[in-house]
Amino acid sequence: MKRIQIGLVGIGKIAKDQHAPTLRASEQFELRACASRNARMKDIANFPTIEAMLDGCPDLDAVAICTPPQVHYDAAKLALTRGKHVLLEKPPCATAAQLDRLAALAREMDRTLFQTWHSRHAPGVAPARRWLSTRKIRSASVTWKEDVRHWHPGQTWIWQAGGFGVFDPGINAISILTEILPEPFFVSVADLFVPANCNAPIAADISFVTDRGARIPAAFDFRHTGVQTWNIDIETDRGALKLAAGGSKLFLDGTSVATEGNDGPHCEYESLYRRFAELIEQRQSDVDGRPFQLVSDAFLVGKRHAVEPFVE
Ligand code: NAP
Repeated sequence: MKRIQIGLVGIGKIAKDQHAPTLRASEQFELRACASRNARMKDIANFPTIEAMLDGCPDLDAVAICTPPQVHYDAAKLALTRGKHVLLEKPPCATAAQLDRLAALAREMDRTLFQTWHSRHAPGVAPARRWLSTRKIRSASVTWKEDVRHWHPGQTWIWQAGGFGVFDPGINAISILTEILPEPFFVSVADLFVPANCNAPIAADISFVTDRGARIPAAFDFRHTGVQTWNIDIETDRGALKLAAGGSKLFLDGTSVATEGNDGPHCEYESLYRRFAELIEQRQSDVDGRPFQLVSDAFLVGKRHAVEPFVE
């Protein structure tokens, strides 16, 4: 079977750490080209812009967009308009209306838009969803704390308007919660801690509440230098569940349980690209704006507190 010819846009940390190695090892995709203003990749065609890549490699079937979210919309729109299937990194766009428009454009063009939430592909997430599907949620909590200097070095876009700040990782926790909880939940209160020299929060405390009234406090913090923590704890009417290490480890009533598939360094992205190939084959899209909506809502109702300037 002919492999899907794909180009990468925005060669930064996630393109180098995950997309490129996953695609180079894939039997379903062939990495043919990339578009990046400064970075270059070996053994494929390099272009400075997505326009140049689409002109220079007209036989590409698909494009994966790995740039910061502020510039996702224009790149995705161009690729869809030129008849390419599109994989879009999270967070999907700068605004919710842009995402709606891209979903409509994919339908008009009869092309696949895969708007990804990579954390949903962590090995503990699918078994957690199945276990929770027959239980009632009593309460839950989210602790998503990491050191921004370690994980996001030099990423000035993250502090700018539309860069999401601490919600850039925090939206991963929300993407898991929206996937595994058997009932909808909403933002009730949000406190956003914004460095005096930035436009995006360095920390956020969010109170979510489910439809049945269960409380879900969430603490997101970029200033955390101790043990890096990406945990979700859920109390139900029949036991407790913990997803640790960003969804890769699952505990039921305190006991570690086996998760699905491999847990290697590229497991989320291998799963992501298998799903992209399946969607292209079926001529379907996969777009779920709920995590994005909840983050937008936190910005809508959030009280902003100025904190000390961030200096990298
Ligand atoms: P990054 O290291 O800053 O890389 C993004 C690349 O996009 C840059 O190196 C830059 O390459 C290019 N780019 C194009 N237009 C840009 C602009 N206006 N401003 C800045 N860069 C621009 O960021 P990243 O960590 O790879 O994240 C990219 C996207 O993937 C984000 O949406 C992020 O949330 C998501 N993501 C990141 C991770 C992670 O662990 N880092 C994990 C999952 C998802 P050129 O200068 O060569 O054009």
